[in-house]
Amino acid sequence: MSASHPNRFTNHYQCPCGCSWHDDSPHTNDDRCPRCGTACQPEASEDIEQDVPPDRFKEPPP
Ligand SMILES: [Zn+2]
Repeated sequence: MSASHPNRFTNHYQCPCGCSWHDDSPHTNDDRCPRCGTACQPEASEDIEQDVPPDRFKEPPP
């Protein structure tokens, strides 16, 4: 069939409380602030067309 992975987006959010975060999703959907729970629309969304390597989820050393 077609690609095994759907098109994904990295959505960037910024909450009025000052918390900012990003999340990968197949859609540019709203997300809830992990700190206060407010539903926020993404202020920016990046297309991710290529496969995401597992290394992407590793945090860089301090
Ligand atoms: Zn918040």
